[in-house]
Order: sequence, then structure tokens, then C-alpha cells
Amino acid sequence: MCGIVGYLGEGNVYDILIKGLHRLEYRGYDSAGVALVGNDGKINIFKTKGKVSNLEAFCADKCLDSKVGIAHTRWATHGEPSDTNAHPHYSEDGNIAIVHNGTIENYKLLKDALLQHGCKFHSDTDTEVLAQLIEYIRVTNKCSLLSAVRQALKQVVGAYAIAVVEKDNPDTLIAARQSSPLVIGMGDGEFFLASDATPFVEYTKECVYLKDGEIAEIRRNEPLKITNLDNVEAEIDVTTLQMSISQLEKGGYPHFMLKEIFEQPDTLRDCIRGRVVERGARININGVNDHKEKFLNAKRIIIVACGTSWHAGLLGKYLLQDMCRIPVEVEYASEFRYSNPVINEDDVVIAISQSGETADTLAAIQIAKNAGAFVFGISNVVGSSIPRETYSGCYIHVGPEIGVASTKAFTGQVMVLTLLSLAIAQLRQTMTQEQIADVGKAVLKIPTYVKRVLELNAKIERMSLIFTYARNFLYLGRGYSYPVALEGALKLKEISYIHAEGYPAAEMKHGPIALIDREMPSVIIAPKDHLYEKIVSNVQQVKARGGNILAIVTEGDTEISKLADHVLEVPEMPECLTPIITSVPLQLLSYYIAINKGKDVDMPRNLAKSVTVE
Ligand code: GLU
Repeated sequence: MCGIVGYLGEGNVYDILIKGLHRLEYRGYDSAGVALVGNDGKINIFKTKGKVSNLEAFCADKCLDSKVGIAHTRWATHGEPSDTNAHPHYSEDGNIAIVHNGTIENYKLLKDALLQHGCKFHSDTDTEVLAQLIEYIRVTNKCSLLSAVRQALKQVVGAYAIAVVEKDNPDTLIAARQSSPLVIGMGDGEFFLASDATPFVEYTKECVYLKDGEIAEIRRNEPLKITNLDNVEAEIDVTTLQMSISQLEKGGYPHFMLKEIFEQPDTLRDCIRGRVVERGARININGVNDHKEKFLNAKRIIIVACGTSWHAGLLGKYLLQDMCRIPVEVEYASEFRYSNPVINEDDVVIAISQSGETADTLAAIQIAKNAGAFVFGISNVVGSSIPRETYSGCYIHVGPEIGVASTKAFTGQVMVLTLLSLAIAQLRQTMTQEQIADVGKAVLKIPTYVKRVLELNAKIERMSLIFTYARNFLYLGRGYSYPVALEGALKLKEISYIHAEGYPAAEMKHGPIALIDREMPSVIIAPKDHLYEKIVSNVQQVKARGGNILAIVTEGDTEISKLADHVLEVPEMPECLTPIITSVPLQLLSYYIAINKGKDVDMPRNLAKSVTVE
């Protein structure tokens, strides 16, 4: 994780770096720092524990003049969050400074060797080892910084995106990547460097995504040069960004999370656009159209993902099995990669990640590719690693998601999985044209229906007060509502730090029912679907034990409404589309409970958005 920013140009280096760090703060926020190369032949590093705002306060009385600089907001992997472990890190002689995103797996081995050569270490990080190694090579081999970086990286096992500056060279910035993202913004006489494009979108739309194993040589008033670890020059592939600055701001909302929840009618419309055509009668997914035979011949689908994306993936299983009659397995990418998985050439593997950079998911993709499977990616960030590493795919098109707890990306992922299932069903003729059109037409109504669900906002805000002091929650659902229960519980945990468990409602009687009492609310997702009568019994079981029930039901419901203590009504939808509708009130509930508890919903403790480490 962590966010990296770099700048070389005539602008105000410090201001650009700090603004960039704020944009990347979703990636990690346990400490932050800047390294500024001045005209005085020195590198000044200012760094401190806590958020970027702490760093700003710390820097208020410092001399910040510089020509080039690098900055970092950290999500600790090696060493506790502290001033000392914060990045940037100097080499022992202070000649270079480095920022790093990722983990150096063989750092201990390298550190021991450097200790034997007399290097001293000040932090617990793997990053400082890399700083010392680069400088040790530069001094011993009397070579340039670029060459030292190249030689050092050849010895490194692990994941990295790095940026390096040198003290008496304010005209150069070196960057490299392996499994962690890095993009270079190409301005007019200036270069930006960042973990994603958000820090420089208002300065330039032209950028170059660095690829694995590449090193960028950024020099003042010279064209960008990219080489690989063997010093072979690579082509510069310039991409034009579609992102706009307004997408990165709160737009009058107190938090990104609330803004993103309220954006969902629009983001879902963007996600559907061009994919449901002929007034709902036909589904058009390019990533499927271009590889028809793979989807026609698929014997099995394996979905790999982590966290919220895994919950979307679980919904994908219900959708694909229902509509396409293909066996589907859903795996946590982190387990899948080490489980010696059995993968066949006629498997289709679907990898899901909002950022497109999730390390475990990328590793799972590699395994699937090596086994000869066809790999399809679902992600949000254009140009990120997953779309590049997969054979085909589909963007969710929900715009930048800044709130660490995913909301609009989740509903976007579920929407894409719904459309993908319909497209495959259309191809394999496992649904009639009429059935597809029925769902297709309902899909077109989803944005309006989500808007109606958002009208529950004030009611949910009031209701949240009743639940704020509960210490445990149970979220229950069946069928399509079971993954919604898991996601609802995760959302609450992430931002309010209240323990919550999602469970298949019928499984409750095999254990969790023992927990039920007046103190523990049960949130039951119970829209009108083919399991409705079954879930009514589950509601009764909770009620009989004195449980406190909040039910999400379909408008006009009478049965569950009589049993539950609190009810939220959502519009009626075909069963396969209910998850998008029922998950929205749960997002709002988590948001308000966390706000009532005074938590930082956009940057919950210990979390980061883009999990680029194992
Ligand atoms: N491994 C490095 C550290 O712990 C970098 C972690 C990150 O990506 O933020 O400092």
C-alpha cells in the first residue's frame, strides 16, 4: 500500500507533493514525509507519525525551497508506525533519499550483509535496507545513481515502487516498479510521479504507466527515458487520462464515503451505459464479444478476489450459476494462490479488484495464466495492473473511489457481474430472449431505484442512534441476500469498529443463535424472493429469543414488518437485482453509526484502500 508522490519542475515542489499526498492518503495514513532536494546540495527530510495534516503542521516553520522532491504516506508493513520508520529514508551518508511502496522479502539477508560491511540502520523498515544497498553499490562500484538502483534491484526479491533522489543532483529523479503501481505525469517542462494519477490530474492529462521491471530516468529539460533491469530501453507509451478534478473532491458532502454512496445512481448509470442495448433486450459486453469461444467452451468459472470484491464475487457465483448453469467457485485470492489449485485450460478465471492493484489477486491471475486458463479482469482503475495482466475484462466505470470502505465500487462490481452473467447466458442460450429482456429492462431502472432507496437517508440517520452503542451485530440473509449480509457486516466493522458477523440466515441455528439477546441487533435482509417464506421463519426464530431486529424488506411487506422492531423498505426488483438495492441502506447505516461514534469514516484505523502488499 502507501502512496508515493514525486515532482521535478519549476512549480512549488512542497505544495505539489503535499496536495498529492492528500489525494493518496486513502492508500495508507500512519505516517507521512517529504524529501526535498535544495540548491544547497542537501536533502531535507521532514517526516512524522500520523496523517498528512500532521506533516503539514510539522513543516510549517521549515525551509521548504527545493527543485525536486519525493513524498510518501505510509501503511506500515515492517516496523511500527513511528517518526523513525516513516519514509523517506536516507542512506547512511545522507547522499540519497528513497520512498518505497511494497515489501522487500529478502530484506533480512540484505541487511545482514550490509551490517557486515559496517552500515548502520536507524529504522525497522525493509525500505531503509534498499536505501543503504543502493548507496553502498554506488560508492563501492563508483557508478551513477541509476546504475546503482539497477544493480540493487537485481538483488531484491519482493514488491516495490520506489522513487529516489540524490543530494547534489537536483535535476534527476529515479523511479522503478515491480508489482506496485507507479505512473509518471508528463507536464510542460515538469514531471510528476505517483502511485496513481490523482495527484497530478489538474496539471496534466498525459501520463506513462511504468511496467514491472522498468526504471524511469526523469531529468530536467530532457525527455523521459525508461529502461529495464538489463538496461534495455523501453518504448514510452503515453496515455491520456479521462479523470476530472471534480471527481476527486467532496462536492459539499462531509465525507467521501457519503458522497460516494449518493453517487451510486450516477455511477450505476455509467456502469450500465452501452452495455444494455435495444431497450434492455440485448447485453453487449466487449470483453465477452471478443472472446466468445472462451465463454462458450468454459467448463467452470473460478472467481478470485479479496475483501469487498470477494463479496461481489460471491454474488457473481449466484448470478453465473443461476443464469449460465456453469459451476462456479469463489476463492479468496490470498488462499487460492497458495492452495495448489487445480486449474484447467477450459476454466475461465474472473479476477475482481477495485484498484486493479491488489497484490494477492495479481498473484492469483499469474497462477491461472500459467495453468492456461482464460483470465478476465473486473476493476475500476483504468490502466491499472489487472486490466493489463488479464486477457480481457470489464471496467466498472464508477470514478475514483476515495473512501477507504468501498461502496460505489461494490455496487459497480455487482452490476458488472450481473451484466457479464446475462451476456454469457445470451451466448450460451441458457436463458430465453424474453428472460434476458425482463432482467435487462429492470437493470435500466436500477439507477432510479437506487435513488429512491437513498431517500431513506434521514430515516436511517435517525435509526442509527438506536444501534450506535451495540457491541455486536449479526447480519443475516439467504440466497442473493447472504453475500449482502457479509458485505453489510464488513462495512460496519471497517468504519465503526463494532464487531459484526454476516451469516447465512439458516445457518444461524447451528451456532450464532446462542448469541441472540436484546443487546445484539440482527440485521435481516429479507426482500421478496423465492426464499421469502424461509427467511420469515428465521426472523421468527430471532424474535422468539428476544432479539432486536432491523429488517430490510420489499415495499408493501406486511409479514416481516409485523415481526421486526425496525423496518426499511426498498423497491421491488427481480431477485437477481435485489443485492444492489438492499446493500445501499446497509452502507448508510454503517456510515451513520460510525459518525455517531465519532470515527474517521474515510480513513478508518489500520486500513488502506489499495492492498498492494501480501
Ligand atoms: N515496507 C515498507 C514499510 O513498512 C513500505 C510499506 C508501504 O507500502 O507503505 O515501511
